[in-house]
Amino acid sequence: MQRYGLIGKTLGHSFSKLYFESHHPEVQYDLFEIDCLDDFRRWTKGNALSGFNVTIPYKVTILPFLDTLTPEASAIGAVNCVKVVPDPSHEDGIQLIGHNTDSQAFLETLKDIIGKAGSFQPSTPSAWILGNGGAAKAVAYALQKLQIPNKMLSHIDIKNLNSADSHHTIPPILINATPVGMFPYIDATPLPFLNDKNKCTYPSPWICYDLIYNPEETRLMQDAVSMGATTLNGLQMLYRQAELSLSFWTNKNS
Ligand code: NAP
Repeated sequence: MQRYGLIGKTLGHSFSKLYFESHHPEVQYDLFEIDCLDDFRRWTKGNALSGFNVTIPYKVTILPFLDTLTPEASAIGAVNCVKVVPDPSHEDGIQLIGHNTDSQAFLETLKDIIGKAGSFQPSTPSAWILGNGGAAKAVAYALQKLQIPNKMLSHIDIKNLNSADSHHTIPPILINATPVGMFPYIDATPLPFLNDKNKCTYPSPWICYDLIYNPEETRLMQDAVSMGATTLNGLQMLYRQAELSLSFWTNKNS
């Protein structure tokens, strides 16, 4: 049986193992919490993995440890999927190929929610991406492909937005690519002002897409719904990136 897995720092929130167990019992998929990436090539080989997913906080920092990147991963600058290929010519006997399946999974699911939200005025809506880490970069790449103008907001940008005593014009597409609001900190939100109609102007229609899937409805999504948004959590994206990852590892179409 082929062995795959997920590496990240804390994985208590992850549904990936459950997804593979229920949809792909033909493979083994395990969660690996690792404190740092030092020595991780040896670790990969020792665990006999044929491929693995990468999550917070390693999607960008893993790049120097890989041998090659697919064109998508290279353009995005973040990797959430690595294929392990035996390679006797390499000093540790393996070749690690980095890929990005988050971006395509986000693009497909965004198209679905745009279809449900209704017609935008103007027809090309703009977007804010909260966060500038690995997931945010994948989202930005997908938005560029869809020709949707977007602004990536770093931790500091978000802090400044929250401390500014000004009026906010919310864009038609708001994406949360930070971990703020994720289990167990479910009362947190990256934009506490979002449900204050005295501080915000909301477009119609508008979308709030939170990449978090645990909890099912984040506080950000609750606030957005109360202000008329169509919302989506990250569950469909998670499932789609899992399928795309498995096809990358096995060279079979999903
Ligand atoms: P990451 O690379 O560590 O990036 C996290 C980003 O959030 C960074 O820009 C970070 O800024 C920012 N951030 C962290 N805490 C913040 C705070 N308190 N206020 C404002 N900004 C903050 O993580 P990632 O891999 O991109 O993942 C981000 C989120 O997306 C996670 O919740 C992850 O589970 C989710 N995700 C879901 C899927 C899916 O399939 N549904 C796929 C990918 C990711 P600093 O680095 O400056 O702190």
